[in-house]
Amino acid sequence: MRLGIDLGGTKIEGVVLADDGRIVERRRSPTGRERGYDHVLDGVARLVRELLPLAPGCRAVGIGTPGATSRGGLMKNSNTTCLNGRPVHADLEARIGLPIRMENDANCFALAEAVAGAGRGHEMVFGVILGTGVGGGIVFRGELWSGPQHIAGEWGHHAIDPAGPQCYCGQRGCVETLLSGPALENAYRDAGGAAPAAASAIADRAAAGDGVATRVLDAWLGHFGRAIANLVAILDPSVVVLGGGLSNLELLYHRGRDAVARCTFNDELTTPILRHQLGDSAGVIGAALLVERSEPEERTT
Ligand SMILES: [Zn+2]
Repeated sequence: MRLGIDLGGTKIEGVVLADDGRIVERRRSPTGRERGYDHVLDGVARLVRELLPLAPGCRAVGIGTPGATSRGGLMKNSNTTCLNGRPVHADLEARIGLPIRMENDANCFALAEAVAGAGRGHEMVFGVILGTGVGGGIVFRGELWSGPQHIAGEWGHHAIDPAGPQCYCGQRGCVETLLSGPALENAYRDAGGAAPAAASAIADRAAAGDGVATRVLDAWLGHFGRAIANLVAILDPSVVVLGGGLSNLELLYHRGRDAVARCTFNDELTTPILRHQLGDSAGVIGAALLVERSEPEERTT
């Protein structure tokens, strides 16, 4: 049995995962980030205490959350901003009384889809999150590769247009500033699109012949093609698995794929580009799988 927690902006989800990958128990509680740092961490610890009796043999907890732990042990880049600059890893271990392993949510998504989802059986899986934020994760032979600086797979922050929109990370034209859901919606609005529209509505309008939606969507697919082709040129993964809200846009798997092929440094593109299989559960399943991978040593203090 393994125990995983997905610490999201609005909810904390915990699961007990059987060795065969089955979810034995699932519990949720609101994150309540407006109530501050201690409230959020207490919520995680409470959920772990509730689930531990259902996970016999569990000696560590996997936790997935947006952001990353910096070298000094402090959280950075979390959209639950009360966590930023705080020693989340150490404070959670103190509250839980067990070792934890934390990874960002895109890495958890990639691990889950590689081990138990659309990427199963593939040697190298690149998992992509296309949603409000954009991220990625690399899994090689069933193991997460985070790199010596812990930034492997940060696909969302490689720039594909140096003259593009300013990104919060300090660069311009990062993939996230061009491919995220808000980026697509803003591009449609800026091009004179009618009324605010979500990504799926823009795709529907383009399919119905709306000229503005068609132009904006063509440009968006072009960015997708460039960004995935860059990835293929460097990593040549065995498969790319798409997750996040925008991964449900069907056109990514044919017109998007064609855009990738046009930018790929090869006479053909054989890399499968697949939709996720685990849906919203991928993050929390990946968090649970972190523990199985790492086998943390028991605490000696
Ligand atoms: Zn950036």
